[in-house]
Amino acid sequence: MMKVLVINAGSSSLKYQLYNMEDESVLASGRVERIGMDSSIVTHEPVDKPEVRTVDEILDHVSAVKKVLAALMHPEYGALKSMDEIQAVGHRVVHGGEVFKSSVLVTNEVKLEIRNLFDLAPLHNPAHMMGILAVETNMPNIPQVVVFDTAFHQTMPETSYLYPIPKVLYRRHKVRRYGFHGTSHQYVSEQAAEFLGAPLESLKIVSCHIGNGASCTAIKDGKSFDTSMGMTPLEGLMMGTRSGDLDPAIVPYVMNKEELTLNEVNSMLNKHSGMLAISGISSDMREVQEAIADGDRNAKLAFDMYTYRMRKYIGAYAAAMNGIDTLIFTAGVGENSAVLRKAVCEGLTFLGLELDETRNAERSKHARYISTDSSRIKVLVVPTNEELLIARDTYRIVQATV
Ligand code: AMP
Repeated sequence: MMKVLVINAGSSSLKYQLYNMEDESVLASGRVERIGMDSSIVTHEPVDKPEVRTVDEILDHVSAVKKVLAALMHPEYGALKSMDEIQAVGHRVVHGGEVFKSSVLVTNEVKLEIRNLFDLAPLHNPAHMMGILAVETNMPNIPQVVVFDTAFHQTMPETSYLYPIPKVLYRRHKVRRYGFHGTSHQYVSEQAAEFLGAPLESLKIVSCHIGNGASCTAIKDGKSFDTSMGMTPLEGLMMGTRSGDLDPAIVPYVMNKEELTLNEVNSMLNKHSGMLAISGISSDMREVQEAIADGDRNAKLAFDMYTYRMRKYIGAYAAAMNGIDTLIFTAGVGENSAVLRKAVCEGLTFLGLELDETRNAERSKHARYISTDSSRIKVLVVPTNEELLIARDTYRIVQATV
């Protein structure tokens, strides 16, 4: 017991981590890819043994979960003797709408509510539901908990979450800002407070989750006050392949001029914009940085636009909160790219921010300062761990219900 399985189910993939909640250690992790295709791949990574890859026919999520359980209970490379050792399963769910303000135990009612949100997250929520049902089929007696990417942002005031468009659209279709990456923003802000030895409620934080998807959140009184992603994860910062903010009039204009359908324009803004479009090289920050080192002008322009837009958001959120004392960088780019952090921070000296270049260039798996001791704003790199927060919420909720 005291083991929690965390699942992130996508439409054709399923990632998993098994936690021992006694010490919050990971016992095994892995992923199933190409579900529904003729050669699916299961990659199982035990903590103390080499990874095991198998190619199999896995036609649906039910079979995928069965394979995961078989790997976890495998006599040689497994981590469990029996399924009963798993106390609960926690799922990542992208969209919780306005219904879910925190993580909850899965019940029939909860499943119905998640289904009602399919419209708002058509690519994600149906896949999560398949994951939940697949666990139910394979492990009928084990409680499940759902943890939402949007839940942390449910504390935003109306002034932050409403769009200045006819209000009937909010009433009828729930058109509003929801925000995403909430699990990550919550986790890193809690870690930062712990690291600083200050109550979270006393801080004015801007947290920057910069990965393939990217968002900034203003955190005041320990709560999300505003966030850059909107009704969908397209708004806000420039991202790997997403445009982020633009003049909404561009959409009908371009649709008309280029004779694009709704699907085409959606795909253009989500998959063929951002750093990929401007650099003409890649959506991957490492590749863009390599191209800059080789003297590529478009890659440099993409990087400059990317960091410029980040800086504008940080400034806007400092104004939104009437101050900022902590700036956090996290996720793939935020944790690993010293060059990006430097480019963003260089233009923020007017706020009293001083970057320590030596600290910025160091690497660590733990939360750390990258500002100088005298900097008025504490700048931190905090590695995110959404899976751990999901495991903690799952464990806490299940403990409270037994
Ligand atoms: P994520 O979505 O959080 O997994 O982040 C993925 C992004 O992180 C990709 O754009 C990667 O290029 C970027 N990334 C990972 N490692 C590095 C690194 N060492 N330097 C710059 N970018 C990195």
